[in-house]
Amino acid sequence: MLEKIWDLRDYVQELEDITEDIVNYLKFLKDLDESTRNIWTSDVKEFFSNTVSAWEVLTTITEEESNLKNIDDSKSFLYAARNRLSLIISQLNIFQSRKSSMLIEKIEIAFKECWDAFWINLNELLPKEDFVKPTEIILKVSDLEYHLPCSVCSKIAVKFKIGFGRLDEKESLVFRGITLETSLRVELSNVLYKILEDDDLIGVHNFMKKYHSPEGVDAYCPECDKLYCWEHYNAKEEYDDGFYDCTYGECPKGHKRMIDD
Ligand SMILES: [Zn+2]
Ligand SMILES: [Zn+2]
Repeated sequence: MLEKIWDLRDYVQELEDITEDIVNYLKFLKDLDESTRNIWTSDVKEFFSNTVSAWEVLTTITEEESNLKNIDDSKSFLYAARNRLSLIISQLNIFQSRKSSMLIEKIEIAFKECWDAFWINLNELLPKEDFVKPTEIILKVSDLEYHLPCSVCSKIAVKFKIGFGRLDEKESLVFRGITLETSLRVELSNVLYKILEDDDLIGVHNFMKKYHSPEGVDAYCPECDKLYCWEHYNAKEEYDDGFYDCTYGECPKGHKRMIDD
């Protein structure tokens, strides 16, 4: 194992101690019914196990072989942990006690340090040529399907296809963005596919605003007129009193907006 990866263990260990403190806090908390206690406790454990997994997938990487798949998986686990943490904080916030505030502060600081340490390593491990800007704004995969790459790394951020979404019983126009998948009436593809053929990103965004939600295309920054993947839009889920509230994205230029509600 690379030594710098081994060193990340200390940050994970620190988080383990704090998550144990939170589990104990929940255990003795009055005014919390048993099922809520169980759900919240498993949220805390899931947060920690995501962090451990982010570390574990890096342990097989060697100096000779930097495995892109493992690096990508590690990032996904880190994002999952960050979203879980946001949920945990919203739960702890309900109590407004000195103890809960202290736990929030502790876990926020420890996770920030852990997050920063991971990213320093992830960026070092990543071959530089990996960030290739896309040559096209919109890729036509077939008459039925279009892919829209991230403007920074070329990773496919948005997909449109005529087909079946997870719950569809009939053929639909399926949108898959960075925060959600949704199905629209298949006839709308006549409108949308013309816009896609014109490489008209604002047009696509306005189409989604009109036919889906005011947030439009979740991966799209209107100020840049560019698309970003989850990582480059720095997407963060927000929670309120233990429930999902919305997701915010902040593009590399610092433009921030709500991308899912
Ligand atoms: Zn990207
Ligand atoms: Zn922007």
